[in-house]
Amino acid sequence: MRVAIAGAGLAGLSCAKYLTDLGHTPIVLERQNVLGGKVAAWKDEDGDWYETGLHIFFGAYPNILQLFKELGIEDRLQWKKHTMIFNQPEKPGTYSRFDFPDLPSPWNGIVAILRNNDMLTWGEKIQLAKGLVPAMLRGQKYVEETDNYTFSEWLTRQGVGKDVQQDIFIAASKSLNFINPSEISAVVLLTALRAFLQEKNGSKMAFLDGSPTERLCQPIVDYITERGGEVRLNAPLKEILLDSNGTVRGFKIRGVNASADEELTADMYVSAMPVDPFKVMLPRLWKEMEFFQKLEGLEGVPVINLHMWFDRKLTDIDQLLFSRSPLLSVYADMSNTCRGYANPDRSMLELVLAPAKDWISKSDEEIIAATIAELEKLFPKHFGVENPTKLLKYHIVKTPRSVYKAIPGRQQYRPSQKTPIRNFYLTGDYTMQRFLASMEGAVLSGKLTAQAIAEAPPVATSSLPTQNLQPATNAATA
Ligand SMILES: Cc1cc2nc3c(=O)[nH]c(=O)nc-3n(C[C@H](O)[C@H](O)[C@H](O)COP(=O)(O)OP(=O)(O)OC[C@H]3O[C@@H](n4cnc5c(N)ncnc54)[C@H](O)[C@@H]3O)c2cc1C
Repeated sequence: MRVAIAGAGLAGLSCAKYLTDLGHTPIVLERQNVLGGKVAAWKDEDGDWYETGLHIFFGAYPNILQLFKELGIEDRLQWKKHTMIFNQPEKPGTYSRFDFPDLPSPWNGIVAILRNNDMLTWGEKIQLAKGLVPAMLRGQKYVEETDNYTFSEWLTRQGVGKDVQQDIFIAASKSLNFINPSEISAVVLLTALRAFLQEKNGSKMAFLDGSPTERLCQPIVDYITERGGEVRLNAPLKEILLDSNGTVRGFKIRGVNASADEELTADMYVSAMPVDPFKVMLPRLWKEMEFFQKLEGLEGVPVINLHMWFDRKLTDIDQLLFSRSPLLSVYADMSNTCRGYANPDRSMLELVLAPAKDWISKSDEEIIAATIAELEKLFPKHFGVENPTKLLKYHIVKTPRSVYKAIPGRQQYRPSQKTPIRNFYLTGDYTMQRFLASMEGAVLSGKLTAQAIAEAPPVATSSLPTQNLQPATNAATA
């Protein structure tokens, strides 16, 4: 089967890769001139890379790790020591660590928490254990039910005090969905905690050894094209064309650089676009259907990724850092953590600014000034002294609508990969799969979509029945 896929993010590429494995021919259409979507990266005039986001791979990401293996590029993942490092705002320039010993799970996690006395008192540890342990033991079904609460509300119900909520979980919440615990659904934090505690290396982190576009997306494209598939950049889907019976007749691709629009036909069609542009592109006939109406419940959250090159080394830490700053989420000195960006003399900090709703429309100068003010606290030795460090250059990438905002109640709006339209499927991190909005979720969704397409009964487009086009009452489970 020929399968047209709109979007060359990780979900679209993963879907295409697994379709080729199943003997089908994918044609991937990407709007931009770069692969990767939310993992896209660009090279500046000096040859330095800058990225849409600082990306971390976890031991608890089975599908993406499997993909690296299948592509023969496992050595591109640079695994770091099993530790989590937090800045201590009350002691500028110092760190508090959760070091995971070489023990089976969950004992390595429990020992890591018990040994940390900077961020949690013994009373708080007991309080936290009382709240979290039952949730861990009661399984994923229980976790799914916590989608009715914000994480703060859920912790309060479990008797966990405000101090613990402040200390650890603001940092975790901002890193997982770019919002605070008072907004994020409990299901997100509890799903992540379960994944981290269930496997010995679940919370172990890896950095890619270079730009995700070159080091991860390109090998997927090579794999697809070597097996007869196609990946086209600068090929924006303009319209989903329907037959009179409401099934897809073709994808209209907008002509770029003054070329004419093009109509692409295939046996099956997939949207691998993020939920926000897909909602805008919904054909009028489909807007009436409950399955697609539900997508109104999902909306991307803003986030900003910063890259700052300095004239000297600010740190030698080779790991992700949780800033615990009101402005920033996580950051890393990529000159230490990433082989492709290595520099023994100068730091390149990559930092995630979140929550970003009040910052997304601000100028680059304002964002950099506010970030420098935070860095003065994180690296007091290097700023405000006699010979302060100099910022050599920076790049800022703003994503006004990134992953869907995982506030309470969103799980019910996440669609299945299979839709009520028999020759049209969805894929993307927002579609329903157990890994929430992440690279792992995107890759898993692509795999699930490929499987669903392969299992679909072969039908000629022109003879598809019309029955599914009536406004559905419970179409989300179709
Ligand atoms: C700052 C930041 C940090 C992150 N950090 C992490 C992390 O550490 N770990 C982690 O696991 N995840 C992280 N994520 C999340 C992760 O990047 C995403 O969940 C994942 O990449 C989403 O993949 P996707 O394919 O579902 O969507 P996308 O990557 O958004 O891909 C959708 C593609 O569709 C294309 N498209 C849109 N409209 C059209 C059209 N009309 N025609 C053709 N193509 C179109 C887009 O250009 C894009 O390429 C982070 C995200 C951000 C923004």
